[in-house]
Amino acid sequence: ESPLFDTGCYPIFDRLVGPDQSRRLVYLDSAATALVSEAVTDAFAAFVHASCANIHRGAHLLAEEATDAYECARERLAAFLGASSPEAVLFTHGATESLNLAALGWGRARLRAGDLVAVAEDNHHSNIVPWQMLAEEQGVEVAWIPVDENGLLDLDAWHRIAERGPKAVALCHRSNVLGFAQPALTEILDEARSCSALIVLDGAQAAGHIPVDLSRLPFDFYSCSAHKMGGLTGVGALVCSERAADELAPLMGGGGMVARVDRAGFETLEGPAGFEAGTPAIAAAAVWPVALDSLEAAGLDALASHSSDLAETARQRLMTLPGAHVLGGGAGAPFEALVSFTVDGVHPHDASQRLSDAGIMVRAGHHCTKPLHRALGARASLRASFAGYNSARDVEALIQVMEELSEKGRAA
Ligand code: PMP
Repeated sequence: ESPLFDTGCYPIFDRLVGPDQSRRLVYLDSAATALVSEAVTDAFAAFVHASCANIHRGAHLLAEEATDAYECARERLAAFLGASSPEAVLFTHGATESLNLAALGWGRARLRAGDLVAVAEDNHHSNIVPWQMLAEEQGVEVAWIPVDENGLLDLDAWHRIAERGPKAVALCHRSNVLGFAQPALTEILDEARSCSALIVLDGAQAAGHIPVDLSRLPFDFYSCSAHKMGGLTGVGALVCSERAADELAPLMGGGGMVARVDRAGFETLEGPAGFEAGTPAIAAAAVWPVALDSLEAAGLDALASHSSDLAETARQRLMTLPGAHVLGGGAGAPFEALVSFTVDGVHPHDASQRLSDAGIMVRAGHHCTKPLHRALGARASLRASFAGYNSARDVEALIQVMEELSEKGRAA
């Protein structure tokens, strides 16, 4: 499997790494942050050099250009995700802010003590902690949809929660630890829809990795981050259904979001601006479309199948290593873009250091999914994640070092 993207478009691959700076870079940490192409950084430099101005407020040429670029990015992202309109897309600083806005902005306005919120155990902390904050603040009850030892969501447990009439359901579209699509996800989404629960779906690991068409997906709030899609850090989005947009209250007050402010109080602007107080990451938003163009040029289906081939190969090879355990490896579902694993006798942080010395960048730790790790019986794991610039050679490089580490782990 050769890379799907032209690696020559990523200047970072010119770098040699490792203790003696002699190793080629093998980047297997795209689930944390994807590499940025020269097309994106060129567009960033061009934007900042030509139109560096604040948006919306100024009535001069540069401010108008910056505003146009920012609003075009909103339109482009709406089209990319199949959102109902550009106005359904709220810019945030990333998926974390998006999920906080959804849980707290909606929940504070709409939930009362005793109301039930279902939270799936495979979520990232950013789709867990805001709901727990709401539980502390307002006495909302959090009901867990647990996972089994393979990471599969427990449908029976969900059915029991559904019978109690949850007001909201917090799910992830794709986990940042389990490499597969939850087989129960479609059923849970459909049932959540039919019991009128508000659906908060975290798309941080789905958008830009698999084809996402929100016009065909039951959701009320959908979150994503540009930096996981080949864009820059500092900008993300919360896509809202019509109901969600009507029921959402802003989390932040300040400049740019008010139609009126006087001694008596304030009135919020209609539309996305009412939720986007302060100066946003204008340039990062403006160049997000360049990253989306590259994804679409490669084709989301082709990208998904490329990453899945690499993740499946990695999973199968890892599962043959003595003492290696793939998280969710027994779930029976095909792996999509990443694989998380442990090796007996080897601490994930030591392994990631050894891999880094060999030029291979993977993530080690709990990946902001402590409840999921606990359910899977692991305190921490290693995670290799794949994108369009990876190849079968990268998987081989990973396996070679892991073979050596698994031998050491056995001897220890
Ligand atoms: N959800 C998931 C599934 C993630 O993987 C991440 C990033 N690790 C986030 C949410 C949070 O994204 P960000 O750090 O860009 O806010």
